Amino acid sequence: MSEEFDVVVVGGGPAGLSAALSLVRARRKVLVLDAGRPRNRFAAHMHGVLGHDGLSPRTLLAAGRDEILGYGGEVRDAAVTGVTVMPGIRVSSSAGEVSARRLLVATGLTDELLPIPGLRENWGTAVVVCPYCDAWERRDRIIGVVATSVDSVEQAQTLRQWTDRVVYFANGFEVPNAETSRRLRVRGIRIVHAPVVRLTMRSDQEVRLHLADGADVGVGAVFTGTTMRPNDDLLRALGARTTIDRTSEWIAVDSDGRTSVRGVWAVGNVVDPRSNVSVSLGAGSLIAGAMNADMVAEDIDAAAAEARE
Ligand SMILES: Cc1cc2nc3c(=O)[nH]c(=O)nc-3n(C[C@H](O)[C@H](O)[C@H](O)COP(=O)(O)OP(=O)(O)OC[C@H]3O[C@@H](n4cnc5c(N)ncnc54)[C@H](O)[C@@H]3O)c2cc1C
Repeated sequence: MSEEFDVVVVGGGPAGLSAALSLVRARRKVLVLDAGRPRNRFAAHMHGVLGHDGLSPRTLLAAGRDEILGYGGEVRDAAVTGVTVMPGIRVSSSAGEVSARRLLVATGLTDELLPIPGLRENWGTAVVVCPYCDAWERRDRIIGVVATSVDSVEQAQTLRQWTDRVVYFANGFEVPNAETSRRLRVRGIRIVHAPVVRLTMRSDQEVRLHLADGADVGVGAVFTGTTMRPNDDLLRALGARTTIDRTSEWIAVDSDGRTSVRGVWAVGNVVDPRSNVSVSLGAGSLIAGAMNADMVAEDIDAAAAEARE
C-alpha cells in the first residue's frame, strides 16, 4: 500500500507552494514533491512582489516550505518521474510511490536562450528578460536588446521607459519596415545590424557584445527573449488536452486550473508564461480553493451515498 494524500503537488515554486499552503490550511493532507530548480534560481533578488521586493527567491520558497510544514504538510526534495490516473492517482518519484485524490502540477517552464557564448553564463545577472523584474536596477544605463524575433522591437521600445540609451541588436531579425525603424529612431534607439557572436563581461557593470563584423559594443545590461518550454511532460504523458497560444502549444486549463484529465490540475508557468511570482502566488491560492471545493463536493456525494445504504 502506498502512502495516501488528498493532494500531491508536483513542483515547489511560488505556484505550487502557494496552493499547498491554502490546502493544508483547509485541513487537507498535502505532499509537495520538488526537484528544487525554480525558474528564477539564477537571480539573487526578486522584484515587484509586494512586501517582498528585493528578497532572494530562495528565501521566499524556504519561508513557504516552513509555513506548509507548520500546518502539518509535507515537502520532499524529489523529482516526479511518472503519474498514472486509473484507477486512482499514483505518483512515482525519486522518493517512492504515493497515491492521491487530486494532483496539482506546478512544474514551471524552462527558458531556452540563443546559443551565443556568454548569454547563458550571465543569465539572471547581466542578461535578463523581464523589464518589470529587472529594469529599475539597470535604469539610465545603456541597455542592449539582443533580438530573438521581430517582437524584440517591442521589448526595446518598452525598455526606453527606463533609459534613453537603448541599443537594438537586430541579430538577424531586422526591423521589419521603414515606419518601425522611424519609430525606433524618434525614441533615440540605435540599431546594430551585425549579428552578435559572443558576450564578455568587462566588469559587473559592463557587458561587451562582440559582433560578426569584428566590432564590439559596450552596454550596461542585456535584455533578450527566450523560447519558453513548459515542463509539462507529465501532463502530456497523461494525454491532457492542449491549446495554441500565439505560436506555442500549452496544456489547456479552465479558469479553475482543471486540465482535461480527471483529478489533475495545473498552475503557474507550466500553463501560463505570463505568470510572474505574484501571479503564480495568486493563481496557486485561487486553484487551491477550487480543488478543495471539488473534494468537498465529492465528500458530500460519498456521505449521501453512504446514508442511503
Ligand atoms: C532570471 C529570471 C528572473 C526573474 N525574476 C523575477 C522577478 O524579479 N519577479 C517576478 O515576479 N518574477 C520573476 N521571474 C519569473 C519567475 O521565475 C516565475 O514567474 C516563477 O518562478 C513561476 O513560478 P512557478 O511556481 O510556476 O514555477 P517555478 O518557480 O519554476 O517552480 C517550478 C518547480 O517545479 C519543480 N519541478 C519541475 N519538474 C518537476 C518534477 N518532475 N518533479 C518535481 N519537481 C519538479 C522545479 O524544480 C521547480 O522547483 C524571473 C524569471 C527569470 C528567468
